[in-house]
Amino acid sequence: MGRYVEGQDRTPNVLFPERLDDWIHEDSTVRVIDVFVDELDLRKLGFQRADPSATGRPGYSPATLLKTYVYGTLNRVQSSRRLEIEAQRNLELIWLTGRLAQDFKTIADFRRDNGEAIRKVCKEFVLLCRRMKLFTDGIVAIDGSKFKAVNNRDKNFTDRKLQARIEQFEDSIKRYLVKLDRADRDATAVLPGRVAQLREKIAKVKQQMQALDAIGEQMKSSEDGQISLTDPDARSMATSGRGTGIVGYNVQTAVEAKHHLIVAHEVINVGHDRGQLADMARLAKAATGEEELIALADRRYYEGYDILECERAGVAAVVPAPMTSNNLAEGLFDERDFVYDAKNDEYRCPAGRIAIYRFTTEEAGKTQHKYWSSECPQCPLKPQCSKGKYRRIARWEHEDILEVVQQRLEGAPEAMKLRRQTVEHVFGTLKSWMGSSHFLTRTLPRVRTEMSLQVLAYNLKRTIKILGAGPLMAAMKA
Ligand code: SF4
Repeated sequence: MGRYVEGQDRTPNVLFPERLDDWIHEDSTVRVIDVFVDELDLRKLGFQRADPSATGRPGYSPATLLKTYVYGTLNRVQSSRRLEIEAQRNLELIWLTGRLAQDFKTIADFRRDNGEAIRKVCKEFVLLCRRMKLFTDGIVAIDGSKFKAVNNRDKNFTDRKLQARIEQFEDSIKRYLVKLDRADRDATAVLPGRVAQLREKIAKVKQQMQALDAIGEQMKSSEDGQISLTDPDARSMATSGRGTGIVGYNVQTAVEAKHHLIVAHEVINVGHDRGQLADMARLAKAATGEEELIALADRRYYEGYDILECERAGVAAVVPAPMTSNNLAEGLFDERDFVYDAKNDEYRCPAGRIAIYRFTTEEAGKTQHKYWSSECPQCPLKPQCSKGKYRRIARWEHEDILEVVQQRLEGAPEAMKLRRQTVEHVFGTLKSWMGSSHFLTRTLPRVRTEMSLQVLAYNLKRTIKILGAGPLMAAMKA
């Protein structure tokens, strides 16, 4: 006769070992969290109630609440209500908190009131990784990804969406009015009670249109012409899929190439990555402490002043230029067909002619030097080169920096592959942990705190995998 492994009898008084500690494996993640938080200087990090008050009813220690949150994030129990339940039945959490089953409000208030301090805790862990010499390669990959906010798409309005919605309502009203007209002409053509129903519908749609008008008014004072009703900071953003978009936030990360740890991150509510390179590179450089850092990014980050700032900050950017040349699209030679001679400050064109410096001008906030050849009008290649009389070549005053970046890229053909391998899976992991709706909190400061907890959990998990729980705890205590 077959049999199963038998569980223990539930009726004896002692079912668990006498010591709760015996139930927690010595290499358990929960022990790492315990040691990590115990080693933090919570007062220095700015946690409220880091010093217990001398009078009144004692409150919960911020250490206990922080441990609860870090544990919850690591185990995909992010909501404060679920954490309250887990704190009563989950042995690891009971062990971690010393059986202090806090209610959900205490847990939620802690996160709300200590946002900045929690964000600093994430940085503290990055510093620990740096002390453990985990960032020795001096290479980071920078990338951004869109994460969904609590705000539903229907509760986000742009001018275009608002107009579309108003047109829909106007069409509905027209349809109802046609039906009412028909009923007026022939009362037998509609069911009894239908007229009243139609009038009700028209009144309702009119009300909704008034609400849209109010949103339109609000939108006029919004900086970027968008309104989100549930989470006012969330923004409609295009994603990489064609015709797809989300209402959410743009999470920027810098991931070091050796162990794939997130060294710096930021949450912004603009839907593009242009203009983020220098800020992220600076954050990454400060976090890794590297004298010289290489930052890999894709072409969405290509921006002249940003690259210049990176170079000035000691970060060597490796970023491909975007393939958006108007000349190329029109079948004409593009800038890459013209070779610059720095010594003589002139260009050699595809016909081998010399385009000399003519004048300097200001265009879109950039100082541009202009060059052209006097031989253009007689040139046999002109149909492939210019639609005007002369082919003018513009050179940004800091173009030499962009040329260095291009040479760097050509000298490292694997750079973009390394970038993809380093940073892209990190977003996949974070999104799968956060679930299909990603952020649970609203407004930028709270979303930033939520993201910091996720990044801390990611780095903790990854570091345990790299070093093992025991050595990591020993390093924390050192
Ligand atoms: S049109 Fe002018 S710039 Fe273009 S190839 Fe001819 S000479 Fe050179």
